[in-house]
Amino acid sequence: MRDLALFHRNLRLEDNAALYNASLNQDYAGLYVFDKEYWSQSDRSKNQLKFALDSLKELEKKLNNLNVCLYVFEGSLSALKKFLHETLPNVNLHINHTTETNYYSNQLKKFSKDFPFLYSYKDFGIQINNPDRDKWARSWQKHMNKQPYNSPKTNNNLHQLNLPKFKEFKTTLETQDMQIQTGGSNSGRELLNSFLEHRCKGYSKKMSSPSEAEYACSRLSPHIAFGTISIRDIYQTLENNINNSRYRWDLYSFKKRLHWHCHFIQKLDTQPSLEHQSMHPDCDQLRPKVDRELIDKWISGNTGFPFVDACMTYLKKYGWINFRMRAMLMSFASYNLWQPWQQTSPLLANTFTDYEPGIHICQVQMQSGVTGINLPRIYSITKQSLDQDPEANWIKNQLPQLEDIDKNIIHSAELGELYKEKVVDLKSSAKKARELVWQIRSNSEFRKKAREIYELHGSRKSRVEKRKGLS
Ligand SMILES: Cc1cc2nc3c(=O)[nH]c(=O)nc-3n(C[C@H](O)[C@H](O)[C@H](O)COP(=O)(O)OP(=O)(O)OC[C@H]3O[C@@H](n4cnc5c(N)ncnc54)[C@H](O)[C@@H]3O)c2cc1C
Repeated sequence: MRDLALFHRNLRLEDNAALYNASLNQDYAGLYVFDKEYWSQSDRSKNQLKFALDSLKELEKKLNNLNVCLYVFEGSLSALKKFLHETLPNVNLHINHTTETNYYSNQLKKFSKDFPFLYSYKDFGIQINNPDRDKWARSWQKHMNKQPYNSPKTNNNLHQLNLPKFKEFKTTLETQDMQIQTGGSNSGRELLNSFLEHRCKGYSKKMSSPSEAEYACSRLSPHIAFGTISIRDIYQTLENNINNSRYRWDLYSFKKRLHWHCHFIQKLDTQPSLEHQSMHPDCDQLRPKVDRELIDKWISGNTGFPFVDACMTYLKKYGWINFRMRAMLMSFASYNLWQPWQQTSPLLANTFTDYEPGIHICQVQMQSGVTGINLPRIYSITKQSLDQDPEANWIKNQLPQLEDIDKNIIHSAELGELYKEKVVDLKSSAKKARELVWQIRSNSEFRKKAREIYELHGSRKSRVEKRKGLS
């Protein structure tokens, strides 16, 4: 065997650089590395694993049609390195670049050392070498406009590796009570088509409400995160449809988010320390105390605030919630409960099927006011509850014990004995948070560092938009 395509997150056949290049000699196989330790990190979950396994199952079938086997290696990347040195010392390895948390990135770094035939390919619209924010938008566009990779070639030589094939691989994953999205490229493609054809109607408004967003958002996030469809494929399909669409304005809004996807991931790729360190390092002094009990009540949906608890209950059931509610949940933990984001971030990530470290960690930091380059925003729980679910019907669906309670009492969270005790006073906690955040931001040293952060990570486009009053 001359070539091996390693799958980590790019679980698809089409527009897959690593797979296509591995197939050129028509003497290749696919390999998925199942590392238990990776999957037991606190930010990983069985939702995410189930989605990955669904996607691999479909991928295996498609590979088999090309006479290609998909194998599974159970163990770490260092164990894989040893195995490959012993069994296939001269094989060419092909892998797509992913922006990951330190556990995986460090392993991959060690794995790549002394491996002369490891080829890594760009997948998202990020700058892997010498990132330069001034040229970022242009390089993103170039990546998205490029001709997608062809389907991989049919294999000529079916070699047997001394490893289980994916269909023989068994995990102890319990999947009965999971109500998460289905993995695989076929369902990703169906979502894209139905979104572009009709679901996007009213997207730019409906995306804020948790009940309407469920249908009106694309729901492509786990597919993009696990790479069952490439972001370039989504972008080009969108471009082919946007001008003739009745919902052009909604689709422009969607297109903007495809940029944001890579814009956020770029930050973690450029600076992996962001996994544990605030983008503005001074902000790490802000929240020195961890209160486990408070955090437990937040993540288990027992805060005493019906809208917060309803969002958490929904998120845990379906593995997804819309952007606005994610931001509100995070703002509540960081501002009202005043807990360090480093403690709460992995717990929230664990609930998302679409967990994408680059987006997640940078959004968490943004919603916690620790980037130094974004204006802090403290969400009012009462306002969001009233705006996004005026009749409180959605809240009641998630929390049926509130079925007979008046909507105004639910919005104001003045339920007394009828519901759980409130963990915090909203007004005074928000006031204190605002004071502390602005106090730290007011000194000139803080602002000097913030300018350096902007140079490294800030979106240049938003500066223009700001000047034009667009953002
Ligand atoms: C605290 C917090 C954590 C988040 N964690 C994640 C995460 O782990 N994975 C993830 O994919 N998204 C994350 N998001 C961003 C956003 O909430 C989700 O991308 C979106 O809700 C997914 O639903 P959708 O695919 O229907 O989105 P759509 O509105 O249909 O958007 C299409 C795609 O654009 C990208 N996108 C949309 N909004 C954003 C955004 N604000 N920033 C960056 N990219 C965006 C996503 O890839 C998304 O799939 C987070 C947001 C917050 C506030």
